Amino acid sequence: MRIAVGSLFQESNEFVSRHTELDLFHNSYIYEREDLHLLAPTNTEVAGVLAICKENDAEVVPLTAAACVPSGSLSKACYTYLRKSILAPMREAMPVDGVILCLHGSMTVVSEGDPEGDLLEAVREIVGPRVPIVATLDLHAWITPKMVSAATGLVAYTHYPHDDTYSTGERGASLLIATVLGKVRPVMAMCPVPLVAAGCNGMTFGDGPMAHLTARARAYEQDPAVLSTSCCAVHPNNDQPELGSSTVVITDGDIQLASDLAGVLAREMWDRRQGFVPEIFEVAEAVRKGESMDGGPVLLVDTADCAGGGAPGDSVALLAELLKLGVAGRTHIMVVDPAAAKKCADADVGAAVSLELGYHVEPRWGKPIQVSGVVERITDGRFRYTGGIYGGTDGMMGTSAVLRISQTYVLIMSRPTYDWADEQYASVGLDMRLAKFIGVKNPMNYRHAYRESAKASFLVDTPGPTPADVRRLPYERRLRPFFPIDEDIENLEFPIVVNC
Ligand SMILES: [Zn+2]
Repeated sequence: MRIAVGSLFQESNEFVSRHTELDLFHNSYIYEREDLHLLAPTNTEVAGVLAICKENDAEVVPLTAAACVPSGSLSKACYTYLRKSILAPMREAMPVDGVILCLHGSMTVVSEGDPEGDLLEAVREIVGPRVPIVATLDLHAWITPKMVSAATGLVAYTHYPHDDTYSTGERGASLLIATVLGKVRPVMAMCPVPLVAAGCNGMTFGDGPMAHLTARARAYEQDPAVLSTSCCAVHPNNDQPELGSSTVVITDGDIQLASDLAGVLAREMWDRRQGFVPEIFEVAEAVRKGESMDGGPVLLVDTADCAGGGAPGDSVALLAELLKLGVAGRTHIMVVDPAAAKKCADADVGAAVSLELGYHVEPRWGKPIQVSGVVERITDGRFRYTGGIYGGTDGMMGTSAVLRISQTYVLIMSRPTYDWADEQYASVGLDMRLAKFIGVKNPMNYRHAYRESAKASFLVDTPGPTPADVRRLPYERRLRPFFPIDEDIENLEFPIVVNC
C-alpha cells in the first residue's frame, strides 16, 4: 500500500497588506520529499499520519510539507512554488493507493481565493476518480464545495485550543487506510453556516457554543456508521464572497444520514450564534478591575493583534494606553518591531535607550509611540514550542530584547510567532508568576497557557486586523447577509453539499 503524504499549512489574513512569501515558510519549515520525515518526532498532523502508515505497513510517498505563521495572503509566486513542490513528486510517484494532505483550510492566495480547493482538485486530476484523498483541516477552516467534491474525506481538529493536531493526523490516515483496504466506503456531506465570528468564545470545553456542538458531534460518532464529524467555526479574517462556518459528516455509505446530521449540527451552530459574541472591555476598565484584585497575573487580551491570526504583532495600542494610565504593578507586554529590537541589541544590556516603537510592519492600524527604558536582556529569539500545532518545532522571533520602562517589561521581537503557551516570554526570562498584568495577543490559547495561574482575563477593545468583534473589520467582498453583521437572516436555508 503506497500512501502519498503532503502538507501545506497557513492561516491567511486578508486584512493585512503584506503578502506571504517563501521566506516566511523557511522561518518555520519547508520539508521537500524525503525531508518530510523530519516531522516524525513532532506534534504535527503529518507526524500522526506517518505513525499510522507505519502501523499499517504502508509505504509513505513523501511530497512536501510546508507551514508558516499566519500572515497575509500568499503571493502568486509563493503558492505556485509550493503547489508544484507537492504535485511534482506526486506525478512521479504514480500510481499510489491513497493521498493525504494536511491543510489549514483558511489559506488564501492573492490570485486564488480557495487554494485548498484548487490543490485538492489538482491532486484529484493526477490520481483520477478512484483513489481516495483525505485532507486534515484546522477547526477554523473555510470549507468550500470545491474541497468537498475533490476530497474523499475532510477531517478537522475537534479541539480549540488546538491540542489534537497529532491525533487529527492519525484520524485522517486511519480513515484513508480503511478506505484503501475496502473496509469502509466514505460518503461526505457539508452544510455551510453564514457565521463569521472571532475565536474568543469558540473553545470546545466549558459551556460555549462550540463545546455543545463538539459534544453532539462526538455522540454521533458513537454510531459505527458515522466515520467522522467536524464542526468548523471559520477563521473570520478573510474577505471572500462565501466565507463562513460549516459542518461536515462522513458516513460509511449512507449519504442520507451524513446529510441529516450535517444539517442538524449546522442549525444548532446557527441557533447558538449569539454565544460566539464575546464581552469586550475598554483598557482602562480592564486595568481598574485588575487593580482591584489581590495578586496576579491579570491578562489583558489584545486579540486584535494576534500573530496566530495573521496580524503583524506590531501594535502598541495596549502599551500606549497602559503607559498613559501609569499602571501600578509589574507588567509584561510584547511587540514586534525589528528596528527597535536591533537598536536595543546594538546598545547592549544595561543601556538606556529611547525608541520609536510599534506599527512599523503594518502602519494601517496605528502610529508609533516614543518610549525610553533600560535594556534588560537580548536573545536570538529562538524557542521550542511545548505543544499545540507547532509542538516540538522551533519558534523564531529573531533578535529580541526586553526593554524595561519603569515596571513595564516590553518584549521586543523582530518577527511574529504563533502563541501557544508562554514560550515567548519564558524564553527571555519573563516569569508570569511575577507579573501583575500580562499583555496577551491571542484570542484563545492563553486560556491554556495561564489556566492554573491567571487571576482574571479581560478582552480589550483595541484596533487591528484580528479584532474580538469582527464588526470592526472592513469586509468588502463577503456577500451579505451574514452574522454578526446581520443579527438574523429571514428564511435562512441550510443547503447540503455532498460527495458520494
Ligand atoms: Zn485554528
